[in-house]
Amino acid sequence: MPDAGEPAPLQQFMDGLIVRNPGESEFHQAVYEVARTLLPYIDRNPVYRELRILERMTEPDRMVSFRVSWQSDAGEIVVNRGFRVQMNNAIGPYKGGLRFSHTVTPSILKFLAFEQTFKNSLTGLPMGAGKGGANFSPKGKSSAEVMRFCQSFINELYRHIGPNVDVPAGDMGVGAREIGYMFGQYKRITGSFEGVLTGKGLEFGGSLIRTEATGYGVILFLAHMLKESGRDLTGLRVSISGSGNVSLHAAEKALQLGATVQTLSDSSGFIHDPDGIDAEKLHWVRDLKEVRRARISEYTEQFPTVAFHPGGRPWHVPCDVALPCATQNELGLDDARCLINGGTIVVCEGANMPTELNAIELLTEAGVLFGPAKAANAGGVAVSGLEMSQNSARLSWTLADMEDQLEQIMTDIHHRCVEYGREDSDRIDYVAGANIAGFRKVAEAMLAFGVV
Ligand code: NDP
Repeated sequence: MPDAGEPAPLQQFMDGLIVRNPGESEFHQAVYEVARTLLPYIDRNPVYRELRILERMTEPDRMVSFRVSWQSDAGEIVVNRGFRVQMNNAIGPYKGGLRFSHTVTPSILKFLAFEQTFKNSLTGLPMGAGKGGANFSPKGKSSAEVMRFCQSFINELYRHIGPNVDVPAGDMGVGAREIGYMFGQYKRITGSFEGVLTGKGLEFGGSLIRTEATGYGVILFLAHMLKESGRDLTGLRVSISGSGNVSLHAAEKALQLGATVQTLSDSSGFIHDPDGIDAEKLHWVRDLKEVRRARISEYTEQFPTVAFHPGGRPWHVPCDVALPCATQNELGLDDARCLINGGTIVVCEGANMPTELNAIELLTEAGVLFGPAKAANAGGVAVSGLEMSQNSARLSWTLADMEDQLEQIMTDIHHRCVEYGREDSDRIDYVAGANIAGFRKVAEAMLAFGVV
């Protein structure tokens, strides 16, 4: 966050934002990270300043909040709160995931929706930005309870979304099961079969590799970063946090490209397997997390030579590549110091805003390559965009089509980051590159619309 030594325009901009959004620390953090790299660019292009483009981009178009009442299996009435932040639709319908977690707050959703503006722009596809969810966690709930919750959630959300208006997808706590329940309820209420959600099952309008796309995309982006500096993934030791959708698919792709995956985690702690989590072990973990919905600590019962570290994060294990893929602010200053001392060459973000700002600064100063989430994890929303295209055309593209398109989109995103992030020293500042490239397209569209 800004300190007394910040340049006056950045300080003023952040002071205004903080007054308008009191107590929303995650939103402040996300905007600050962007504003500090964008304001110098905006200074060189004063029309963006004069027409207050960044001020407009940090104010959601609208945000709805609503009651979600549902009945537990025990017959009790539970009341949760649902939200949708419609951040910016300058370049396409609002697009972004739904998060179901007890940690959901307006601040978290605004930070995610703001990040989504840049990420969606970077994909090159016509998608605006939104984010939503509820302070409800499916963990520990029966499928019948999750279904009743999803139906109640959609009973209100349906009036705010639509294939040309706002197209939500999954995020933490929202996978294929939840999307199925929500799509079914939307269809029932409206009587209309349309591409209103992405991440759908393949039988009812879903796209091949949507499930895998975020994790795969992270590794494709990482491979480009390594290639740009004359390396590849073969034989590198990779530490991954989380054991959800993004983590497990990142692990799978990293293995395919010849890396050794040595850690996975969940909110109870992490496992470190020095022999490497190979394809067979990963298959076992997928069953553990996706079918049995159990804890990562059980890995040590199946593979007794492996240690489980309760409550810990995997960044103290020496590695070549660190992939934070679990949640926001999961890699702090001390973790960054450990990574640097352990010889890490790249940190590439799979989760949204997993690295604290002072940790990014330390890593960058130490010469560690840093791939920011809005570029590295854009593969998921990109394939969501392709799912929208397939739904509109009433077609399903083949696996080969989808793999090629994901690969091309990640290559293009990397290219845009390099184009806008290359410094005089030839070093690539991926953070600045992603922020500026993402900003430009949305800003130009907003200029074209006049003052709205
Ligand atoms: P999942 O819900 O599938 O998995 C999340 C994982 O992170 C779980 O292993 C979870 O453990 C762990 N986790 C959650 N909170 C914490 C915590 N406080 N400390 C340690 N571990 C934690 O989510 P996804 O994989 O879908 O998403 C992960 C991240 O990637 C999020 O930041 C999300 O916004 C981002 N993302 C996801 C996309 C997607 O396509 N799914 C697209 C782009 C970004 P536990 O089971 O114990 O909660």
